[in-house]
Amino acid sequence: MIRDPLIFAAISELTGKMRGKAFPASQLDKRTESGIGWVPTNALITCFDTIADTPFGSLGDLSIMPDRDAAYTVDFEDGTPPERFILSDIATPEGTPWQGCTRGALRGALDRLHGLTGLTLNAAFEHEFQLLTNAPAIGEAFSLQGFSRRRALGEALVAAMAQAGLREDTFLKEYGAEQFEVTVKPAPGLASADIASVLRELVHMTARRHDETATFSPIIDPAGVGNGVHVHMSFLDNAGAPATHDPDGPSGMAAVTAQFIAGILAHLDAIIAFAAPSAISYTRLTPHRWSAAFNNLGFRDREAAVRICPVTGSDPQSIARQYNFEFRAADATASPHLLLAAIVHAGCQGIEDGLPAPTATEEDLSLLSDKDLGARGLKPLPGDLSTALDRLDASDVLRGWFPEGLVDIYLAHKRGELDHAMSLSDEARLAAYATIY
Ligand code: GLU
Ligand code: MG
Repeated sequence: MIRDPLIFAAISELTGKMRGKAFPASQLDKRTESGIGWVPTNALITCFDTIADTPFGSLGDLSIMPDRDAAYTVDFEDGTPPERFILSDIATPEGTPWQGCTRGALRGALDRLHGLTGLTLNAAFEHEFQLLTNAPAIGEAFSLQGFSRRRALGEALVAAMAQAGLREDTFLKEYGAEQFEVTVKPAPGLASADIASVLRELVHMTARRHDETATFSPIIDPAGVGNGVHVHMSFLDNAGAPATHDPDGPSGMAAVTAQFIAGILAHLDAIIAFAAPSAISYTRLTPHRWSAAFNNLGFRDREAAVRICPVTGSDPQSIARQYNFEFRAADATASPHLLLAAIVHAGCQGIEDGLPAPTATEEDLSLLSDKDLGARGLKPLPGDLSTALDRLDASDVLRGWFPEGLVDIYLAHKRGELDHAMSLSDEARLAAYATIY
């Protein structure tokens, strides 16, 4: 069959998915210059393909601007055409960054961090997903049998990741029914979020080629476990040396790390609207699911919003390199770019405000009264998306972090999504998110 390769110019948009348009590969030079037409209201298309209340209506024009540094080609060698896509920014007709561009928002946050501290951020997004099967196998948590049944899928995924230039780390059979986890090595800020977007697509592309359907939905069965996105972070100084750890600091945190984490925890009840942004995300964020239910720091505790991760060995230099902390309250309905932007801004706010180092908790917080929690500066996370969106809406500090107008576009989008989601029965809502993500 005759064929002319097409490149999909993809924007990482508010739903956490990639949308865009394709053009012939032969036009790459031209399209990198002139872009591809787009409209502001597209940012209001929810994950259900409904259009939320749009402040733009039919007005306005934008351009998708492909980023040559973020071009991907993956040939699955199964007779289907190679997948070619290029991550892109969104620009106004005048060529300036558009307010609703998630990559632009993340660049702004990373610049703020660098300006404040001289540090750059390295991050790695760890993803869990499940395969949707009619009769999920039981008794396969972390098992060789469970792994072996999906070895072909795992090996194809790892090969696809390698072709895409993603530095694969592990692929494992997770605890839950048909649940798997894939981890990657850390990458610099913007690249780490690009990689997270690409990874989700590669999992879907790989699963489809194995006649399977993968879902990153935060929860497919409230009786089972959730699918989390854990964001590992560390800092490098201008010379590229690790700057996250201080052996004498609390829980090993350098002063800047402690303030950064304190900022995340202080603003968590509002930034959670970016991290756990679906109508079902808050079912996952409940105690005893090894996700997060409070704005706490944990030291090697997997039920904390932010966790100090373990290091191995005793060589101080190696420890300084390995030392990292993990944000556990996110899921894959989040835009990786907006999520990381919100985390970094909250961290910067903690540094600017000189917040004190948080104390790591070491117990089951669900057993404490609100009064005891309050005495330690802890609070439960919002119980639903509507509350989280209201907290975001109420925070002028947060509005100021992002390009002007972005938070209002986001709120309109998410409230539109929520309206549709809540018009469905509980069962239909879970099924819809499982299909979409
Ligand atoms: N499935 C858990 C979550 O929803 C995470 C389990 C783990 O890997 O620690 O975040
Ligand atoms: Mg896991």
